[in-house]
Amino acid sequence: MRLKDKVAIVTGAASGIGKEIARAFAREGARVVIADLNQKAADAAAAELGDTRKALGVVMDVTNEEQVEAGVARTVDQFGKIDVLVSNAGIQIVAPLDEFKFADWKKLLSIHLDGAFLTTRAVLQRMYKQGSGGSIIYIGSVHSKEASVLKAPYVTAKHGLIGLAKTVAKEGAKHGVRANVICPGFVRTPLVDKQIPEQAKELGISEAEVIKKVMLKDTVDGEFTTVADVAETAVFFAGFESNALTGQSLVVSHGWFMQ
Ligand code: NAD
Repeated sequence: MRLKDKVAIVTGAASGIGKEIARAFAREGARVVIADLNQKAADAAAAELGDTRKALGVVMDVTNEEQVEAGVARTVDQFGKIDVLVSNAGIQIVAPLDEFKFADWKKLLSIHLDGAFLTTRAVLQRMYKQGSGGSIIYIGSVHSKEASVLKAPYVTAKHGLIGLAKTVAKEGAKHGVRANVICPGFVRTPLVDKQIPEQAKELGISEAEVIKKVMLKDTVDGEFTTVADVAETAVFFAGFESNALTGQSLVVSHGWFMQ
């Protein structure tokens, strides 16, 4: 029970990586808030983790200041405090830069960066007041370190999260608040499954080639990273109780991009 009695908010936790992080946190004894766009989906993911003493679904569009504030307030009402934020909600939109729609650029940056900022600010206010420290975990990507074609706003946003985490690490230190970034390689979730046919079309290659020659090309073993791999890393960061580990980014990617 590495997270016994901790309270965690995980954004985008009705699906994919966030959902598995929520499961792993609950297994480790945390009470978890599943924050996502749709109440039904958030409630369903929360129900899998236990009753409302253990898990709660809240509607939170991370780009909406009021919804973020309300979701964080609801967490404190329900569970009395906040110890961990996992800023995970995200989308992908692929297109070449010269054709990228401005609206798509803004939408992607807003979900990844405005969302990270708004949730960070709301939980920091509580963590500072509580005086018992906290852990903020951003879900970056290998694209926090490396670029790929067709993914300009995603690469830009994911690099940006490292800057935010480093700043939170510096400002939060005197309050015992740590901030770190997990940088996964490709994980088979709905976000990636949607991209495979899109990239095949853009690049003029088959879907199998997208997997082999684009997504897993630079891994050491041709394997996808799993939601469990990312969740285990999140448990590690969430449970690490000192400022010794802060302002860092950890690549979990079967060796794609070695620092
Ligand atoms: P996913 O599509 O399975 O899940 C994303 C979740 O975020 C969904 O439940 C969706 O409803 C939610 N969401 C989207 N916009 C939101 C908003 N405005 N407010 C609140 N919730 C919102 O995707 P995933 O693969 O699990 O991705 C989760 C995170 O991991 C993203 O930040 C993504 O960039 C990152 N990531 C994914 C991979 C991968 O290969 N799948 C690799 C590296 C990083």
